Amino acid sequence: MHPFTYAKAETVDDAVKLIAGGASAGRHPRFLAGGTTLVDLMKLHVEMPDQLIDITGVTELATYDVSGSRELVFGAMARMSDVADDPVVRADYPALSEALWKAASQQLRNMATIGGNLLQRTRCAYFRETQYPCNKREPGSGCSAIDGINRGHAILGVSEACIAVYPSDLAVALAAFDATVDVVGPNGRRSIPFLELHRLPGTTPHLETHLASDELITRVRVPVTRAGKASTYQKIRDRESYAFALTSGAVALTFEDDRVAEARIALGGVATMPWRAKAAEQSLIGQPLTEATARRAGELAFEGAKTTCQNAFKVPLGIQTVIESLMIARGRA
Ligand SMILES: Cc1cc2nc3c(=O)[nH]c(=O)nc-3n(C[C@H](O)[C@H](O)[C@H](O)COP(=O)(O)OP(=O)(O)OC[C@H]3O[C@@H](n4cnc5c(N)ncnc54)[C@H](O)[C@@H]3O)c2cc1C
Ligand code: SF4
Repeated sequence: MHPFTYAKAETVDDAVKLIAGGASAGRHPRFLAGGTTLVDLMKLHVEMPDQLIDITGVTELATYDVSGSRELVFGAMARMSDVADDPVVRADYPALSEALWKAASQQLRNMATIGGNLLQRTRCAYFRETQYPCNKREPGSGCSAIDGINRGHAILGVSEACIAVYPSDLAVALAAFDATVDVVGPNGRRSIPFLELHRLPGTTPHLETHLASDELITRVRVPVTRAGKASTYQKIRDRESYAFALTSGAVALTFEDDRVAEARIALGGVATMPWRAKAAEQSLIGQPLTEATARRAGELAFEGAKTTCQNAFKVPLGIQTVIESLMIARGRA
């Protein structure tokens, strides 16, 4: 076991001071939220922090508010299960609720938090098993997946250094809704547009976000939109429950005179970070939503996909996921 110290923060200020103190003392600190990613990876010796800063007692992070007329505000420590089951979220933003409901298990959702969910690490088996080379875990060591077992791996946003799928379901829905992430660190507060939170792997797959290592996510804000009601999150996986996505789609729509006025399409299970399919969205604007226009959007969403012989099936499956998501969202308009 790798030894670590443990401290419990009571306030946001406490948490920031503790992490800044640890980092400036040359330590390797980490915030502990629900622990469902972090403790798992510590047991596997993939993550080896020497200081844990428990933020579960920071009550100001635990609340969320969906009553505002301009935005929904989710504290970083709000539980996945609470947000998933919120009546307003279920009725007015079904894509958000479905993305949460379809993730993990009830026990995990009861522990896991909104902030921690966005920072979960990839499920690539070679990343989680320390005997294999993995550029994400050990920069420069190589990628075992590229010539290994890669059926579940990414086909969009991949690089020669890493093809790991970014795993969060919630993040796909947040990408579709143009969320913003508020953070605070020793240098103050700032806000990050959701699609700028995560990074493409490029040559540095170990760097996954644009967060500094001493920054705390305080909340996630989702602008109020009419497209929320006609939204859905569809997740295709090897079994119906308790599995990560092979492909997924978050779609939100508005219509004027039976034509698409606004389309938001984000993809999961296929990309190295939360993925917005802008060309697919554009192709639908001003069009009636038919099987043909939906298929065209799906094809555009996967243009430029880079597949291996094991995961090429994700292109037709992903196109079908986009079509199905669009049709379900249309039914809710
Ligand atoms: C068996 C299993 C199945 C799963 N299936 C799915 C699935 O189908 N879909 C899905 O989306 N997820 C799935 N998950 C992942 C799960 O949703 C995440 O583990 C969970 O959301 C992480 O939240 P947490 O609060 O437990 O984070 P933690 O494990 O506490 O933290 C995760 C990381 O985020 C950092 N962190 C946490 N909070 C903050 C903050 N406020 N500011 C800055 N850094 C922070 C931590 O330091 C750590 O590095 C699964 C997990 C397991 C174990
Ligand atoms: S795909 Fe990425 S995470 Fe998986 S082995 Fe390769 S470098 Fe590591």
